[in-house]
Order: sequence, then C-alpha cells, then structure tokens
Amino acid sequence: MMGPMRSNKTAEMLRRCEMRRQYAKQDVVVLKPSDDTKGGPGLVESRNPNGHSKCDAIEFQSTNPWEVMPAIHDREQKIGKRVECIAIDEGQFVEGLFLFSKNLLDAGYDVLVAGLDLDFRAIPFGEMLNLTWLVNAYGGSITECMAYCTCGARALYSQRLIDGRPAAYGTPVKVPGDSYEPRCSEHFVLPGKPH
Ligand SMILES: [Zn+2]
Repeated sequence: MMGPMRSNKTAEMLRRCEMRRQYAKQDVVVLKPSDDTKGGPGLVESRNPNGHSKCDAIEFQSTNPWEVMPAIHDREQKIGKRVECIAIDEGQFVEGLFLFSKNLLDAGYDVLVAGLDLDFRAIPFGEMLNLTWLVNAYGGSITECMAYCTCGARALYSQRLIDGRPAAYGTPVKVPGDSYEPRCSEHFVLPGKPH
C-alpha cells in the first residue's frame, strides 16, 4: 500500500489483516517501527477517523527490523504453527526494508507493507519504491492509495507545513510539531528546492 499522507494506507493494510484473520484463519503479525508516533506503545492506529482500525503490533527500532524475529518465533512456538502473514506499517522509516521483506518472503511469509512513496521533498522515501522489484519477482501487487487535494484533484504529494507554512526543502525530515496535507501538483509548494 503506497501513497501520500492521508490516503488511508494503514487502514487498508489493517483491513486486509483483519480479512486474513477472520476469513482465512491466518495468523497475522503487524510490525511497526518506533519512529511512528501515531498510536500508543504496541498499537498501530490509522489516522482515518471513520475507521476505528487499531490492532496490536510489535514495535522495533527502525534501524534494525531483524530484532523482531525472536518475537515472531516465540509466537510460532506459542500458537504451535507458523505465522502466515507479516504486515509492516510506516515502511518508509525501516532501514533495510528491501532485504528484510525479501528474507521474509524467502522464508515463506506473506508480506504486506504500508508506507509513503515520496517524502515532503517529493523524493522517494526510504526503500518503499524498491519494493516494486519484489512485487514483480514474487508475483505480488501494489495498491496505490489515493488522496485528494482540497481543490478536488488527485494529490500525489504530501505538503509539509511548519507552523502552518510550507516547509522549505532543506528542513530536517523529522521536526516535532509539523503537519501534512495531501496536495495536487498545482498546489504543492516547496520553497528553496534546488531543481
Ligand atoms: Zn489542488
């Protein structure tokens, strides 16, 4: 699931997890990098106010996704079978996302990833776009989640605002108190961009 801010990526991923649990009787584990500040500890929460999607998640340091493997193996011991599906939220923050996802696929897990395709500078975010290779190689699919600008056009970009004003190109990627809006190409503003 890829798309800009407020395109319901997390909600869509959690919906699919719930479908798998409810109808396919699969065991699904949701992973969440600790850079995420949306939910409380151990919870993945969608920003969509209409969907009350919440579920338990295993948190990990975004610099080391591999640290979750003992927890997954413990769970498999406890439930007496393999976990069928591993879902990763906020994939753009995960270092080594490509290799981590590839290893999970090679180990026989189904893998779902939700994340931003572009950062506020409209540059590929983390390793999200690299996953297209895995989608091709392993016969998966990409769901482009849609967001809309206030003008009604499709929003391809995440407009970052700091104190209500467009954030400049050079501002650090993580600043507390910033906010985001989906914007179309006409209304996306990026002061100080070099090209
Ligand atoms: Zn617009």
